[in-house]
Amino acid sequence: MKIEAVEGWPKGRKHRCLMTETDASQVNAIRRAILADVPSLAVGFVDFTQGVNQDNQGEVVESVNALPDEVIAHRLAMVPIPTHPGEGIHFVDECPNCSTLVEEDRGCMQCQVLYSLNVRGPKSDDAEDYKTVYVGDMMTLSDPMFDIADEFARIPLTVLAKGQFLELYAFATYGRGRDHAKYAPAAAVTFVPHRHAVLADKKAAETLFALDLSTSDGRAINEKLFTKGRVEDADTVLELEKALHQVGPGTGRDVDFAEAIVFEQVPGAYVFSFEGTGSLTPENVLAEAMRELAERFTGIEADLVKALA
Ligand SMILES: [Zn+2]
Repeated sequence: MKIEAVEGWPKGRKHRCLMTETDASQVNAIRRAILADVPSLAVGFVDFTQGVNQDNQGEVVESVNALPDEVIAHRLAMVPIPTHPGEGIHFVDECPNCSTLVEEDRGCMQCQVLYSLNVRGPKSDDAEDYKTVYVGDMMTLSDPMFDIADEFARIPLTVLAKGQFLELYAFATYGRGRDHAKYAPAAAVTFVPHRHAVLADKKAAETLFALDLSTSDGRAINEKLFTKGRVEDADTVLELEKALHQVGPGTGRDVDFAEAIVFEQVPGAYVFSFEGTGSLTPENVLAEAMRELAERFTGIEADLVKALA
């Protein structure tokens, strides 16, 4: 199997690759490995401060707010935690420092990433009645490389009214998508057979070209898109497939257009796309999926040797 990024990808958290010399079952194994096996960090435990406090001006604040603690914990679990494979954080049950301890004592700086949040609602003489608590209010107590990305900082967590405060410690640990969806490092993991588009009938294709459509990167959909009557680039083929809905059945143009552009399947080639959640970079998502798969197959070999010995 060969994998190469389609030109211009990854774009932000999204990635698209061309996988060749393979079959659907192998490509699907990668898809499943991304969803279920690639380890990533997510908040797994939240410690809420509960009670009534008095500030230095005598104002009393209480640990209640619009949402129950369980809901806030769930919202925190959905926040993408920056994950750097091979940067020294271990699974809790594999931690060299604390995995031998009894369960309630486990958890240390080598297997947890720690965040704190401490926000209070507006003061009694403030103009606004409510204050929104954002993910960006969380402080990293571990290494700064685990700081929540700016693009997620404006995710709202809850709302505090006057006389309310929210104080918590959140612990992120490693997990896998098969245990909980919060650990899945990507969503919308899909693949389609790679096809080439062939301009079979220039005249009939005018039905489509006359519509003045353009690709999402602004190229006009017309004859110039084709080189020697063909489009082989994965991105452009997908754009053409989308455009063909405008001349398909039910549009009233399908009779004129007929088979003006046809698609030829490329044997053993697939276009693979996914959107990362933001915990891992798209390149790392793919690399980690490969590592997980490779590890599993090496494991099978060892198991077989053991079983047959
Ligand atoms: Zn530990």
